[in-house]
Amino acid sequence: MKINLISDTVTKPSPGMLDAMMSAKVGDDVFKADPSVNALEEKAAQLFNKEAALFFPSGTMANQTAIKLHTNPGDQLICDKYAHVYNYEGGGVSFNSGVSCKLVDGDRGMITAEQVEAAINPPDFYHSPLTSLVCIENTTNKGGGACWDFEELKRIKTVCEKHSLGYHLDGARLWNALVAKGESTTQYGDLFDTISICLSKGLGCPVGSVLVGSEEEINKALRIRKIFGGGMRQSGFLAAAASYALEHQIERLSEDHAKATEIGVVLNDLPFIKKVEPIETNIIIFEIEEEAMSAESFVDKLNQHEIQIIGMGQGKLRIVTHMDYTDEMHQKFLDILRKL
Ligand SMILES: *Cc1c(COP(=O)(O)O)cnc(C)c1O
Repeated sequence: MKINLISDTVTKPSPGMLDAMMSAKVGDDVFKADPSVNALEEKAAQLFNKEAALFFPSGTMANQTAIKLHTNPGDQLICDKYAHVYNYEGGGVSFNSGVSCKLVDGDRGMITAEQVEAAINPPDFYHSPLTSLVCIENTTNKGGGACWDFEELKRIKTVCEKHSLGYHLDGARLWNALVAKGESTTQYGDLFDTISICLSKGLGCPVGSVLVGSEEEINKALRIRKIFGGGMRQSGFLAAAASYALEHQIERLSEDHAKATEIGVVLNDLPFIKKVEPIETNIIIFEIEEEAMSAESFVDKLNQHEIQIIGMGQGKLRIVTHMDYTDEMHQKFLDILRKL
C-alpha cells in the first residue's frame, strides 16, 4: 500500500466526480460558450457574494492575474515572508507585473495590521515604489496550514481602505480554514477585493482555480488570463469536476484535519522529533532532532515503507493529509511511525 503525503494535490478524481465530468455539457469557453464553466463561475461568484468569477487552470495564474489587475509596473505589494506569491510562483510578481514585494516578518505566515501600515511607502515620496496591494494567504502553506484570526483581517482591511490599497486573498486552501473555524464564504467575499481559491488541493479536483471579484475586475482578469495563455476551450469537463467538489467534497475536509492532529500527537511522542508546529488544518510541519537522526534518513526510512513525505528546507519536513489518504492508510502510517 503506497501512501503519498507529499501534498493534497496528489488526489485522483472520485467516482462521483468522474461521472460528473463524463456527463458534462461543454462548449468553447474562449467564446464564453461553455455552459459548465459558466455555471461554475456563477456559483462561485454567488458563494462569495461577488459580482463575477473566472475559472483558471492554476492557482498561480489566478494569483498572478489578481496581482496584475491591482498594480502598475514599478509598484510594490505587501505580503508575509512565507507568501506563496513570493516564494513559489517563479518570480511571477516581477516577471508578469513588474512589481516588487515588501516582505513582512509575520508569525506562521500571518501578519498584523500594524505591520502592514508600517510597510506602506509614503505615496508622496517618489523615490520609493508605490505601495498598491496587500496579499494575504489563508490557510498559510509555508506557515503550516495556520488559519487567520478574522478580526485581524478586518483590521488590515481598514488599513487598506485608509491608504487606497487593493486587498487580495490567496485562498488556495480557504476551504480548510472555513471548515476548521466555522466561517463563511460570504464573510470573506465581503472583506476582500479579489479571492483566488484552489479546487485541486483539498477539494480533490484534477485541475482548476477560481478568481472572484467585481464585474469590472473580472472583465480585466479575462483579458489578463488570455495574455497569460490561460484561455481554455472545452474546459467544462474540468468545471464539472469543480462544481461536483463544491457540492460534495467540502465538509469532509474535517476528516483530513482530524487525521493531521492524530499524526501530530504520535510525532510529538517520538524521541527524535524536535518540534511539531501547531496543527490547525491538514498540514503538519515538524523538525527532527539532528543529533539523533537526519531529516533525510527519516524520509528514507518512511520511503522504505512506501510512504512519501517532503522536505521544506532548513531541516523542516511536511506532511499533508487529503481525501485519498484513507483510514486504513492512516492506521498503517501511525503504526509505522510508532515503531520507528
Ligand atoms: C497551491 C497553492 C497555490 C496555487 O498553486 P498551483 O500549483 O498553481 O495550483 C497558491 N497559493 C498557495 C498558498 C498554494 O498552496
